[in-house]
Amino acid sequence: MKNMKSDKRNKKKLFIRTFGCQMNVYDSETLADLFFLRNILLTDNMGEADIVFVNTCSVREKAEQKACSFIGRLQRFKLKKPNLIVAVGGCMGQRMGETLPERFPFVDIVVGTDTFYYLPELVERYRTSGKKLVQLEFSREFPRLPLVKECVSGQVTAMVTIMQGCDNFCTYCIVPYVRGREKSRPSSDIVREIQELTSKGVKEVTLLGQNVNSYGLKDGDITFPELLRLIARETDLLRLRFTTSHPKDLSEDLMKCFHDLEILCKHIHLPVQAGSNKILRLMNRRYTREEYLQKVRKLREYCPEIAISTDVMVGFPGEEEADYLDTLRLLEEVRFDTVFSFKYSDRPGTAAASFRGKVPEKVKTRRLIQLQELQNKITLEQNEKLVGTVQEVLVAGTSKADERQLTGRTGDNHIVNFYGPRNLIGELVPVTIVEAYAHSLKGELPLVGEFSREKDQCVICR
Ligand code: SAM
Ligand code: SF4
Repeated sequence: MKNMKSDKRNKKKLFIRTFGCQMNVYDSETLADLFFLRNILLTDNMGEADIVFVNTCSVREKAEQKACSFIGRLQRFKLKKPNLIVAVGGCMGQRMGETLPERFPFVDIVVGTDTFYYLPELVERYRTSGKKLVQLEFSREFPRLPLVKECVSGQVTAMVTIMQGCDNFCTYCIVPYVRGREKSRPSSDIVREIQELTSKGVKEVTLLGQNVNSYGLKDGDITFPELLRLIARETDLLRLRFTTSHPKDLSEDLMKCFHDLEILCKHIHLPVQAGSNKILRLMNRRYTREEYLQKVRKLREYCPEIAISTDVMVGFPGEEEADYLDTLRLLEEVRFDTVFSFKYSDRPGTAAASFRGKVPEKVKTRRLIQLQELQNKITLEQNEKLVGTVQEVLVAGTSKADERQLTGRTGDNHIVNFYGPRNLIGELVPVTIVEAYAHSLKGELPLVGEFSREKDQCVICR
């Protein structure tokens, strides 16, 4: 998140530490905007903060442990600066509520996933009353968000949440409990936010939701494919992405969008979770292995060059060696471009937490390592196919590892690093891929004039 430029003297400062998914990042950006409207500025130096907000994740046990360890360390800061206000929010805030200040007595305010918007008001209330505050209720509608977008100014890419919550109740997942029922954001608000972002220089937007495919089906004005078409028509974006898609709701109309809409990047994140029908049933995913494979085939018919990524879990309760091997076989059959893989962990209150047949930790670790070895090999082979091709890269900035290099993504979501002038940041640039690694590609700018874009104009020398 960018620091806000303004006269910083005499203004109160907010420090935010975000754990978890892109939705949490978006929520933190929104919160920073809400504080900005009250003249409280974001700082990346915790030492100078008057308010610290920890935005937490509960999806896996490890994510909660990380957040708790960070919160624990705040005690030292509070002792040094007794007026510091410590607030915790996000999924763990929602889940633990009142018990958080009991465990960490220096936590002053706890907000949930729908109530974090009230944090600026709660901070004021806390300042006058000195009483600890916990506010957790869910709201029925998607909130009307400020369109300040101060946090993203100067960025090439941004995220926009289009839905909150989830109604699917996969048996392992805590999201429906900590994020509440699914709600879709009005399409006009989404379009206005994207227009605001493009006016600030943003070129690519990723639409966020736990299951974007069900956008609008329950409470919206239009369906998800209609929303994509609307955004393509009404905004000046160069590129549009979305995540996450639930396979059971992936419609042919959406597949068609990959073929029809030029701004839609040719990449889909389609979490499969497991390759065994027995496990998929126990997970309540509501599709079979065969149905998943059929959707992948259809997608590739509509858009042969589409890149597909996925999430998989090992060690779900009841997963026997044969089930696990089914997952490996599915990875070999689909040949995903990227796989995010996790060891199953019990989440309190979910159905699977009380399932029998828990898999020992040692077995989970062994399965995860083997699966990752297999997928790393596949990913590298997929990446190697790109060597020698020219890819259009949206240059997002300089590489963290080497400031002299530029970094960006291809439409199908590969990270490409290459040497080039900084004035290319924000541009779509043709880049020749010269080397493939497991997680990125090395590129080179074609010789000036070698590659001509529309109207025979080279983006580099124009
Ligand atoms: N909505 C997405 C979907 O339907 O696949 C997933 C969202 S979830 C926040 C992100 C990923 O975390 C899941 O795809 C799953 O692989 C993983 N995950 C969720 N619950 C988990 C658990 N209890 N243990 C391990 N991994 C889990
Ligand atoms: Fe969790 Fe399933 Fe909802 Fe995804 S679809 S957020 S995995 S309950």
